[in-house]
Amino acid sequence: LRVNNARGVDAVLFANEQVPVEGAAVTELIEFLGLQQTVERVAEASPGSFDEPPGITQVAITPDFHKAKGIPVGTVLQTRGFVVPQAIGNDINCGMRLHVTSLRAEQVTGKLDELETACRRIYFEGGRNIPMSRGQREALFKNGLSGLLESVPKSQTEGLWGLFHDLDIGRELDRVDQRGSLKSNRTLGLNDFLGPDDRVSRDGQIGSIGGGNHFVEIQRIDKIHDKAVAHAWGLKPGMVTVMVHTGSVSIGHFCGGYYRDKVRAIHPAGLKHPDNGIFILPTGEAHRETAELFWDTLNNAANFAFANRMFLAIMALDCLRQVVGKADFPLLYDAPHNLVWKEERDGAEVVLHRKGACPARGFEAMEGTPFAYQGEPVLVPGSMGANSFILVGQGNAASLSSASHGAGRTLSRGDAMKGHHAEFEAFLKAFRIVTPVDLRRPEIRQRRDILEAKLADIKQEAPFAFKGIAPVVETLTAAGIARPVAEVIPLMTVKG
Ligand code: 5GP
Ligand code: MN
Ligand code: MN
Repeated sequence: LRVNNARGVDAVLFANEQVPVEGAAVTELIEFLGLQQTVERVAEASPGSFDEPPGITQVAITPDFHKAKGIPVGTVLQTRGFVVPQAIGNDINCGMRLHVTSLRAEQVTGKLDELETACRRIYFEGGRNIPMSRGQREALFKNGLSGLLESVPKSQTEGLWGLFHDLDIGRELDRVDQRGSLKSNRTLGLNDFLGPDDRVSRDGQIGSIGGGNHFVEIQRIDKIHDKAVAHAWGLKPGMVTVMVHTGSVSIGHFCGGYYRDKVRAIHPAGLKHPDNGIFILPTGEAHRETAELFWDTLNNAANFAFANRMFLAIMALDCLRQVVGKADFPLLYDAPHNLVWKEERDGAEVVLHRKGACPARGFEAMEGTPFAYQGEPVLVPGSMGANSFILVGQGNAASLSSASHGAGRTLSRGDAMKGHHAEFEAFLKAFRIVTPVDLRRPEIRQRRDILEAKLADIKQEAPFAFKGIAPVVETLTAAGIARPVAEVIPLMTVKG
């Protein structure tokens, strides 16, 4: 489906009969593409802003497209000469990470009660301990996972650092998009957060799942679709996987707010604000300072998110080892679905924004990584009561090498909470959800108020609130965006 907003911007939308396209999301997309007028007006009011003719070079919409705030989820935007800081959503570097463990599901299924207790302790009851000095936190914000590797000595084994060294994270950096290490020269807005002194302190943010759709899920490989790729990636039926979905939590909100204000401030004086509320950041020399500030601050948050996902996975491994015993924990992949990438196209630099869309690059683009013979792993979660998919990217040009990052909502949170009682009961019986409130405890079961509030939270994210994952995956396959490799089913989902 092609959508044209009458200003000459084409958006290519991928859908099929089974995945209905939400009218409200199309309207929102057309409003968003009013961006083209903003670019023209800024160029006219302040021609010196740009070093090259600015333009929207391509727009693609993934099959889990749905309305969000200002810009629909599933929007992929490529531009030249300017960045659109709002086009990546509020949760900077929200993304997915997947580990394939050496455990078989039977080793875990008999011990889910113990595992639930261990998970509740480490995720929600202060059981995590990741002590960092100010210098180490700063190294993380400036250089991501490489910064941590350089600044945390092997002798530092307190809390979760022992597992961090055991896992030899450094050897697996080529399994993280951009090695989980974006360059930032400063920590600008975060200086208050970092604090002035160098005492060792516990970081209150790292290792937090965040609310809503975010999760840590222990899963079983249910089906293999592509034997050759599954073999190369170490995926076998019945093995246990750990999937993490989170981003930069409050750090990202803080950083995003910080640069959005600065970007708004360089909107040409006297030119009215864009009708759709979307501001642009020209990348020319005239706004170099603001652009540098943007990239530095964005990268601070993105680096934090890479480490957040890594630690959430390490915490799951800690629980598995406590309950089941020895387990290997190789990383398959970690990639953002809310981020801006600088890329090259026909020898010129372009800016690629993905909001709720994951990269799905083909094997050619993965040269120098372990995926050079297959293509990029694409992690598409279903819901806490449905299968999730592991696919392999095919580098589809029309989709800007981008795939859905989930099934996408079919019911708003409000609508999901209304009715659906029988479906909800059946879901709660069939799946194990771990939340900060222990729904198994008799005292809690007597407190209807607490119980109902928590169940309402869970209901907002229940399987019936999401589209079916299979039609979304079929659309990706039919369009040549990504091919399914394997399917996983939840054994236990930890929700913030
Ligand atoms: P988002 O990044 O838009 O917040 O969510 C991504 C996708 O995650 C959703 O579209 C949904 O398909 C999926 N999802 C939400 N909650 C869960 C969960 O608890 N487990 C799994 N496997 N998937 C989920
Ligand atoms: Mn998020
Ligand atoms: Mn997300």
